[in-house]
Amino acid sequence: MNQLSERITNMSTSATLAMAAKARELRAEGKDIIGLSLGEPDFNTPDFIKDAAIEAVNDNYNSYSPVDGYVDLKEAVITKFKRDNKLTYTLPQIVVSTGAKQSLYNIAQVMLNKGDEVILPCPYWVSYSDIVKVAEGVPVEVKTSIDTDFKMTAAQLEAAITPKTKMLWFSSPCNPSGSLYSKEELEALAKVLVKHPNIYVVSDEIYEHINYTGKPHASMAGIDGMFNNTITVNGVSKAFAMTGWRVGFIGAPDWIARACNKMQGQVTSGTNCIAQRAVITALNADPSVVNYMIDEFKVRRDMVLNLLEDIEGFNTNTPEGAFYVFPDISFFFGKTLRGKTINNATDFSLYILEEALVATVTGDAFGNPNCIRISYAASQDQIKEAIKRIKEALS
Ligand code: PMP
Ligand code: GLU
Repeated sequence: MNQLSERITNMSTSATLAMAAKARELRAEGKDIIGLSLGEPDFNTPDFIKDAAIEAVNDNYNSYSPVDGYVDLKEAVITKFKRDNKLTYTLPQIVVSTGAKQSLYNIAQVMLNKGDEVILPCPYWVSYSDIVKVAEGVPVEVKTSIDTDFKMTAAQLEAAITPKTKMLWFSSPCNPSGSLYSKEELEALAKVLVKHPNIYVVSDEIYEHINYTGKPHASMAGIDGMFNNTITVNGVSKAFAMTGWRVGFIGAPDWIARACNKMQGQVTSGTNCIAQRAVITALNADPSVVNYMIDEFKVRRDMVLNLLEDIEGFNTNTPEGAFYVFPDISFFFGKTLRGKTINNATDFSLYILEEALVATVTGDAFGNPNCIRISYAASQDQIKEAIKRIKEALS
């Protein structure tokens, strides 16, 4: 008999991680799968960061750290927020967690009561809706379309607000669309939000450095009137190719930071101490040390867009950041290829996996059932081969 809680039974499996696991499984069976599913930089962590970790091991960092992170790490986070985002946080406003994913989980747990609504502009990052639901919050999806680069307008935000709205969560640059809100676009949203001082914003800026616009990254907390109502989420997974190190952090109003600290004091006792020591070095470095990764991502983005242009049925916009493209593939719905009928994005993604041996992620997982997500955190050769195979499988 299944005696699991309703909480876990009702939770969806992370579609990104599930696809990565499926690709690993098929590879183990000997299939030559090209993985364009997981949002994980394919670079190595830079040597200067690895060296800092080795030093920490040799310096006997082996005890529990303060629950919210070492003070010198929190100082490095403050330096980073000031330098990169012109945001002035103080020590009690910073909490270091086991990945930005845990930061988001903490926030939901400490901010939401049963029935509180959380506005999620679609497409949103895969885990937002389940993190909200497990805290008994109600995700309120705001549909956007490829024609507006998948961005929510101020009018759409205003229309989605109800007396139950507690939060707005969004990422910019966005996973999965790669869209990026300009300062002016954030100001337009803020104009609506300042009329509702009980609404708090999660501004997930984990892709901030992967920005191809040439313009500085815009942070919601830096927009007039928003600092005290914004929780800025960030981390090192994407910027420094450190996904497995599991370090993320927030800058937030003191009372929210204190609550997150209390929550993780009962749940994790703080983040891995060696990883924390290494992150101090990463954050104190000039962000230009990772420009080589960003330059390469831009070349790959242009390559993916060029190659996809050649396939009938892919409607793609130009993502300005992150390392994803999010084409609308609804052209294929209702079509039968190689005896398989494609009715939705999940069918399409599975078809590509089985017939082209290329792993992508269905847009359903991100609240947009007409699209698939292609991650170009893969080598140029892999990208070329993958898109060639997709084209063949669809012709
Ligand atoms: N937010 C977004 C938008 C992401 O894409 C990811 C990637 N996993 C995360 C948060 C979580 O990152 P982390 O590896 O720091 O948990
Ligand atoms: N953020 C990445 C993605 O969207 C990593 C996977 C995950 O944490 O879900 O693919």
